Amino acid sequence: MFKQLTEAQLDPILSLTQMFREDARSEKMDLGIGVYRNSQGETPIMQAVFQAEQRLLETQKTKAYVGLAGDEVFNQAMMDLLIKDTSAYQRAAAVQTPGASGALRMLADLMYLAQPDTTVWISNPSYVNHKPVMEAAGLKVKFYPYFDTATKQVNSEAMLAELAKAGPKDVVLLHGCCHNPTGADISFDDWKAITELANKNGFLPFVDIAYQGFGDGLEQDAAGLRHLADNVEEMIVATSCSKNFGLYRERTGAAIIISDSLKEAQKAKGRILQLARASYTMPPDHGAALVATVLNDDSLTATWKSELTDMNQRLRRLRAGLTQAVRDNGSDAFDFIEKHKGMFSVTGLSQEQIIQLRNEFGIYAVGDGRINIAGLQEQKLDYLAKALLSVSR
Ligand code: PMP
Repeated sequence: MFKQLTEAQLDPILSLTQMFREDARSEKMDLGIGVYRNSQGETPIMQAVFQAEQRLLETQKTKAYVGLAGDEVFNQAMMDLLIKDTSAYQRAAAVQTPGASGALRMLADLMYLAQPDTTVWISNPSYVNHKPVMEAAGLKVKFYPYFDTATKQVNSEAMLAELAKAGPKDVVLLHGCCHNPTGADISFDDWKAITELANKNGFLPFVDIAYQGFGDGLEQDAAGLRHLADNVEEMIVATSCSKNFGLYRERTGAAIIISDSLKEAQKAKGRILQLARASYTMPPDHGAALVATVLNDDSLTATWKSELTDMNQRLRRLRAGLTQAVRDNGSDAFDFIEKHKGMFSVTGLSQEQIIQLRNEFGIYAVGDGRINIAGLQEQKLDYLAKALLSVSR
């Protein structure tokens, strides 16, 4: 049966990691795959998570199934983190999913079930998996203008002009914060304008928030999402604990549905559970149990928040440091890096320049010009600055 299949295309980011491993140069730098790294280049288990893990080890008495929706304490905690003080809180329901990836797919399947001719509008560019996941669920995908390659910021005017054309059969997918891959976020005024458009023209807002706490802080990073939640009748959210709890491999995330009533939100939740049943049935428990433990204990929550602040400050320091290092080498061409948010920045380098970075300098970045700021190390900023200037000449 399978002989007739053609080979799968290699994932460009994962093959980059392999090449990096095989590179013998000591000055090499991995700015590819999207995981947070500390100043030693490691992705450690967060202390709060480690302590929760020890607690769980001592107290967990069974590995019996939890249930289709996963851990309801976790689900509540996710809603608390994102929408607690909004009017949407009383008309929302959450389902634990295998990462935000699972949430994206379940919500896509739900949309297809409700309205098969839905078009999902995605920012140009967007997270590499947005288009494949929406299309795999049978939905149509359309891109809206987003990144201005000249300023390296969001072109709000072009974005809003295009989104003004979205109607009742459309879904507009927004990044909650720390846009992947560009690092350029929409302003609060943009969130307000999009909210008005959603109410006027009837499209469904869909927020993917995978980096809450990595931009301006836990609360600030949810401000746009909360404004929407407060002001629209219906919206959906995919959220992830991969980055802000460092739980990547534990596959921990949630899908949240906000509707005009709790009854409607719960009905949609019930349909997601039915979709999950026909797929993976239940999400893995461990990561969600850890998050629930951390967020239901004041001391662990305080530890987690302080660790998250440290991660956030390291990213900001590296952004400022790289911008300064480029300036010290006589150019202001990379000043935008300091203005970007979160873990990524699109540098504007071409595919050829990215290959040159790799061949000449041992610096590994994704072909679209994205660099992972967390992959930087303070003592290598000058080396990177010189390399960036050398290839962009
Ligand atoms: N959405 C965005 C914007 C992402 O960047 C990522 C992962 N890098 C995901 C979703 C998927 O995350 P998860 O590991 O939780 O599946």
